Amino acid sequence: MPERILIVEDESSVAEAVSYTLEQEGFETQIARDGREALDAFEAAPPTLVILDLMLPGLSGWQLFTAFRRKRDVPIIMLTARTEEADRVAGLEMGADDYVPKPFSMRELVARVRTVLRRSQRGAEEDELLQTGDVQVDMGSHEVTVRGEAVALSPKEFDLLTALMRNAGRVRTREEIIASVWGEEEYLDQRTVDVHIRWLRQKIEADPGNPAHLLTVRGVGYKFVE
Ligand code: CA
Repeated sequence: MPERILIVEDESSVAEAVSYTLEQEGFETQIARDGREALDAFEAAPPTLVILDLMLPGLSGWQLFTAFRRKRDVPIIMLTARTEEADRVAGLEMGADDYVPKPFSMRELVARVRTVLRRSQRGAEEDELLQTGDVQVDMGSHEVTVRGEAVALSPKEFDLLTALMRNAGRVRTREEIIASVWGEEEYLDQRTVDVHIRWLRQKIEADPGNPAHLLTVRGVGYKFVE
């Protein structure tokens, strides 16, 4: 099911450019030019994510933000021409998922959208427990246990481990790993994956030089096995 994004912005050129770019990226979009339209659209078909400009005629972006949040816990990215740190902090304190100052590049916005969506989808899986062999991951508490002992991982190591464990037994290419751990919009040296795999092996393998779980598939990528 395509993800629907509601774009609340009165400046047509910005709204249309954002809408066009997101649709190219495979999202469905809807534009609302003021608070009233935005609330109607939100009620009629709840979006997966809202991009909300703070400077609007009528209801302000802040008022709208509060109104959306009262209705439903949908991820919200705020846009604004105001770049003061105070606004950014206020936006994040109110619970905005991200805050993008204008002018922004479309590539940056798409990257933020994907990151926020990924984070919110991860939130929905919170109580899940991943278990493969002697490695256990609690998605809610982010606790990792190996052979009965707690292991501390960095956020990227955690994402890398869970991305591989979710596909246990199947090989994942470096490109796929980068897309799920670092995001599709980041251009990253593939060796970064190798480095993180090495760090992860040191933490979860009994013998990191001779791994039993995190296997290299030469010329392709990596796979997690029991
Ligand atoms: Ca505006």
